[in-house]
Amino acid sequence: MASRLSFKGGVHPLKRIHHGKYLAENRAIEKCSVPGEVIIPLSQHIGAPSKPVVSPGDKVDMGQMIAEPGGFVSVPCFSSVSGTVKEIVPRPHISGKPEMAIVIENDFEDRLCKDIKSKGPLENLSPQDIVGIIKNAGIVGMGGAAFPTHVKLSPPPDKKIDTLIINGAECEPYLTADHRVMLEYPGDVVRGTKAVMKILGVSRAYIAIEDNKRNAIAAIDEAAKEEDIDVVSLKVKYPQGAEKQLIYAITNREVPSGKLPMDVGAVVVNAGTARQIALAIEKGMPLYERVITVTGSVNTPSNLLVRLGTPISHVIAQVGGLSGNIDKVIAGGPMMGITQFDLDAPVIKGTSGILALDIGMTRPGEDSPCIRCGKCVGVCPMGLLPYLISANAEKNNFEAAEKANALDCIECGCCSYICPANRHLVQGIRLAKSEILKERKRAGN
Ligand code: SF4
Ligand code: SF4
Repeated sequence: MASRLSFKGGVHPLKRIHHGKYLAENRAIEKCSVPGEVIIPLSQHIGAPSKPVVSPGDKVDMGQMIAEPGGFVSVPCFSSVSGTVKEIVPRPHISGKPEMAIVIENDFEDRLCKDIKSKGPLENLSPQDIVGIIKNAGIVGMGGAAFPTHVKLSPPPDKKIDTLIINGAECEPYLTADHRVMLEYPGDVVRGTKAVMKILGVSRAYIAIEDNKRNAIAAIDEAAKEEDIDVVSLKVKYPQGAEKQLIYAITNREVPSGKLPMDVGAVVVNAGTARQIALAIEKGMPLYERVITVTGSVNTPSNLLVRLGTPISHVIAQVGGLSGNIDKVIAGGPMMGITQFDLDAPVIKGTSGILALDIGMTRPGEDSPCIRCGKCVGVCPMGLLPYLISANAEKNNFEAAEKANALDCIECGCCSYICPANRHLVQGIRLAKSEILKERKRAGN
């Protein structure tokens, strides 16, 4: 086993805010109760929204496809309960903007869709068969990115892939869902890894885990001992789980500006996604439930198996409710998660956690002018000048922000986290990125 690989830049959040993983890391995965109504948004992934194939009044089974892909970069959606379609209307969404959703009234019978059955042994499936199973199961990156997995696993023929990395870093403070999945279902993660190896035609793969999850490293190591899979231990540093940083830590290859992992022969798949691939092949199970961490200022921090479409408010009630003087509730982790303003928004495919932070856990203080300390530059894992991009964004000078490589920003939040002047750097950079992309679209590039 290689030990404590790492990358340039980054931060150690545990030095300033408590890393918080201790709250839920020893809590075994439990099933969350199922609400009387689930809200299944048509946009749960990057790409075109799914298109409904059911109408109000239709009876549906659990695991039944209720929306088909809206394009190549898209996936189907499934009912997470048995019941009746109530309406198809805009509903709150974790993005902060209401999105069209299929609302289903639960009959609590949990009738499983009859189409759900094993696809047979991996040896009998071709790479194309496996990609088709992944696509039909609606699988997306479950670490939070929610990019359709069948697209990621279909690189163009001129991109030769020689390295598969299964990402078990889970570097975001507080989150422990991947940790528990690797610890409790190591065989699933390893068999999912083998399926992806077969698709990509690679003869060796890495499962990369941060060194603060030693029991998961041991469990995966044991499950993978007969396989051509290396389990590697990564230094505990944020954002160790970002794709480009992970590839560098393990292979020493740098993904150039504007390029993708496949341009350096690598594909990165989240550990939870790898498990979901095994479930899709072996049980025929589509993605209609997932493991999430519910933690922070809640009464019983937990790792829960949650049916997609369950409102955040229901999940929080399941863990005994909020505790303390709550400042905010976040979908995801504290560094990259999205603050929630409506707790009726449902858990979706890319939701890795729900984090409640009380006033004592969030950062106090107003932002103030930049003091040119350079700390943001030192921690940026992409080698950018965050203060400069952000200053240009503030002046609406998006051309200058583009020249400063704003589009390379992975929005990890390290710069904002470290800034002694409390500058909201990521917000400015995000704005610059969106304006640059809009301008490129206008210009037809
Ligand atoms: S500029 Fe982007 S990539 Fe660099 S530290 Fe800030 S958020 Fe992370
Ligand atoms: S860390 Fe903050 S204060 Fe220091 S240079 Fe960057 S933006 Fe300015």
